[in-house]
Amino acid sequence: MTNHFPVEKLQNIETPFYYYNMELLEQTLQVIKEESSKYGYHIHYAVKANANKRILETINSYGLGADCVSGNEVSASLDAGFPSEKVVFAGVGKSDKEIITGLKNNIGCFNVESIPELEVINELAEKEGLVANVALRINPNVKANTHHYITTGLEENKFGIYIWDLEKVMDKIDELNNVNFKGIHFHIGSQINDLDSYKQLCTRVNELQELFEKRRAIPQIVNVGGGLGVDYENPDENPMPDFKAFFKIFDEFLELKEGQEVHFELGRSVVCQCGSLISRVIYVKEGVNTNFAIVDAGMSDLIRPALYQAYHKIQNLTSSGEEEKYDVVGPICESSDCFGKAVVLPTTQRGDLICIRSAGAYGEIMANQYNLRALPKGFYSSDL
Ligand SMILES: *Cc1c(COP(=O)(O)O)cnc(C)c1O
Repeated sequence: MTNHFPVEKLQNIETPFYYYNMELLEQTLQVIKEESSKYGYHIHYAVKANANKRILETINSYGLGADCVSGNEVSASLDAGFPSEKVVFAGVGKSDKEIITGLKNNIGCFNVESIPELEVINELAEKEGLVANVALRINPNVKANTHHYITTGLEENKFGIYIWDLEKVMDKIDELNNVNFKGIHFHIGSQINDLDSYKQLCTRVNELQELFEKRRAIPQIVNVGGGLGVDYENPDENPMPDFKAFFKIFDEFLELKEGQEVHFELGRSVVCQCGSLISRVIYVKEGVNTNFAIVDAGMSDLIRPALYQAYHKIQNLTSSGEEEKYDVVGPICESSDCFGKAVVLPTTQRGDLICIRSAGAYGEIMANQYNLRALPKGFYSSDL
């Protein structure tokens, strides 16, 4: 099970660090490309999941676009080679400076979330003598079955334009000379494993299309966002999600108008399973009811367990002893600095390599320097 980790080579690297299985990343990209091209779908990678340069370059080499949520992500995508017309810029709070970065680089589209933002983009585009393509991010009011921190498509949250405001927003677009209505955009949440949520999204999009048809403003792009989930429990059995079934849902349920393109923004499902956080056991401490395996990685390296009580599979790569239970904790001065409670591991000792799986998405990119720790580095299977 653990044998696709080059353990001897990993032993020589200073821990903690991120290890990326680049073959798995490429296999995943190949499947995405094959399954999406059956329907002519356009795929953008959501850069916020992992903006590591090598990863961005690999993703670009498979022809995906880049979905960015900050000016720096726009710049990083262009640096990694993404063509500017395949770069889109989303986010509820774009600053003037970030908008200007997008405009000056001629990016493909701004996904707009409010009337004030629309006005600012128009004003800045006018100053630059440009017309900006915009897509409207609409809050579709679809409940995705997932963690409440990561659902986004419901009425009472900050994301997107409410359906009842759409006419007003479209009137505004008609008034403005330096924005061009290009598309509609939706994103219902993250780590969604129940494809029914996507069926519901399709139904909602179909209903909304009528509003645009009445106004004779047919959006060229229908962007249905990302959010496809991965199997954190069984990363070896399910190293990638069922992309075939995912794209098929949209082919079956989305009713398109002539000339419309369907766009996706996949983040986690592209990069999650290829990444692991590798750390070393510093001490094993016996408690009253539990043993602690204290590792040299902490919540500063991977914050998901502390932030969302997220589950990550944990393995000991160097022991094959009898199974025991450990709380796997980091060195940081916070009790939430815990990667897993009562984790079953072979007898674990100081010096063992501990692997925290499915950490390629929202892992390295969320690392911080709390306790003045160094940021973790990335290492790539293809270099070892
Ligand atoms: C985060 C985000 C995505 C990607 O979500 P994943 O769950 O990583 O696929 C796509 N679109 C928008 C607007 C986002 O905010």
